[in-house]
Amino acid sequence: MADYEVPELHEYPIVPKLQRDVMKHSAPFIAAEKFQGPLGFPGSLPDNWKEVAIDKMGELLGKYRSLQVFLDICVHCGACTDKCHYFLGTTDAKNMPVARQELLRKVYRRYFTFAGKYFPKLVGAVDLTEEVLDDWYSYFHQCSQCRRCSVFCPYGIDTAEISMAAREILDSVGKGHKYCNEIIGKVFVIGNNLGLPEPALRDTLEGLEEEIEEDTGVKVRFPLDEKGADILLITPSADFFAEPHVDGLIGYGKVFHEAGVSWTISSKASEAANFGMFIGSYENMRNVALRIREAALELGVKRIVFGECGHAWRVAYSFLNTLAGPFDFLDQNYPIPQHICEFTNNLLKEGKLRMNKAENDHMKLTFHDSCNVARGAGMGHVEGGQFTIPREVIKASCNYFYDMPQDTIHDATFCCGGGGGLLTDDLMELRVKGAQPRMEALKRVAEDHGVTNLAAICAICKSQFAKTLPYYGFTMDQIVSVHQLVSNAIVMKGSEQEAELDGETE
Ligand code: SF4
Ligand code: SF4
Repeated sequence: MADYEVPELHEYPIVPKLQRDVMKHSAPFIAAEKFQGPLGFPGSLPDNWKEVAIDKMGELLGKYRSLQVFLDICVHCGACTDKCHYFLGTTDAKNMPVARQELLRKVYRRYFTFAGKYFPKLVGAVDLTEEVLDDWYSYFHQCSQCRRCSVFCPYGIDTAEISMAAREILDSVGKGHKYCNEIIGKVFVIGNNLGLPEPALRDTLEGLEEEIEEDTGVKVRFPLDEKGADILLITPSADFFAEPHVDGLIGYGKVFHEAGVSWTISSKASEAANFGMFIGSYENMRNVALRIREAALELGVKRIVFGECGHAWRVAYSFLNTLAGPFDFLDQNYPIPQHICEFTNNLLKEGKLRMNKAENDHMKLTFHDSCNVARGAGMGHVEGGQFTIPREVIKASCNYFYDMPQDTIHDATFCCGGGGGLLTDDLMELRVKGAQPRMEALKRVAEDHGVTNLAAICAICKSQFAKTLPYYGFTMDQIVSVHQLVSNAIVMKGSEQEAELDGETE
């Protein structure tokens, strides 16, 4: 199945023996000039690349105080070393978070500290060379910016920030990441990551309406570009076509229908994902986010609700107002923006949704906390809402739920292995190996409680698991959307399911 060794799953996590440079060969395809230009980056390494790179580093150090602090304060205590899923899965020493940071820190010391300028050998400072640049390209694309290591660092050093800075410097000298930069370009031109044009989107949504009507007898609408709707739904474009994502979208539609609210999708902002964050580019992140503001204004909506997408929710929850605000034209009585899980959970708590949990009895569920939701955002007005709200929605939708081991969930969750812009086939070996810690935790609940399915609220996690589960003896359909469970269980008014249930109880 693979021309590399798939890591073993153990009964308990084992810290592997360090190996040097075993993943040095792993690097994503470099973006061609046509993908770099529209984003404001050079198409290839300029003659004065070293000067450009050092200037960029200086600019970032000046702009982001946190970056300089993170580069200065590490005491090399080692607490982060065994916390990265890529280190645990690949055993490459440079995938220990502190070692990854050192790749940039060594150059920072050389050009920006007194000791590094005059006594480089004494302080481990190195010149920026093409070899160093290649190491950056390889190993900063072996960090999914998941921030797990920062939870265990006594100083809170965030390797994700360092990896974003490194990628931004790489872009500034023409070493851009093809997968990310090509996608950002598509969002600007077409509106979504997939390059799905408006007519295709409309067709897909009409198809969903027919499917639900056939299945339930109820006409649930999936409106597109409907002016004057109350809610603008911003959702990952994967929701429009791929399983299990689309089953989640069907769930959102049923919830909106039962809530009796008017809503719409926008063809201009038909994408929740914001890959600007992955490449560390504030300008591109802002430009992607501004489409949402423009769509909300053009359609005259009162609220914005986000579908199941992990990093999009981080951008939305933590930065949307800074990037594209103020949102003073929206109804201030609702969270701006709101997560679909919070929307559904509120209705559940108010008793406005009828659920038949037995519809999910063929599954025993566990929940994968997605990194950007768990460690980069919140949800609702309660502390830890990003952990409790999705679980409450799942528990309201099924009878069997079991959490994975405590040290692998909530803010200690393991990345799926495909986050941070690494969900590309040219990084398959890394993705498979990086999934190992999560697979190990899944195996535990499968053995202990008979868990059959893993639910998630992130499009990247769902795609990554669909691809990597089979490498570990599971099947690709074991990953499900949280709103897929809602969709299965919800009993819509006037539906065949309602008639059946009421018939049974009469
Ligand atoms: S942010 Fe995540 S992927 Fe990056 S070094 Fe830390 S644990 Fe590893
Ligand atoms: S835990 Fe923090 S201080 Fe310790 S080695 Fe890692 S990054 Fe440095």
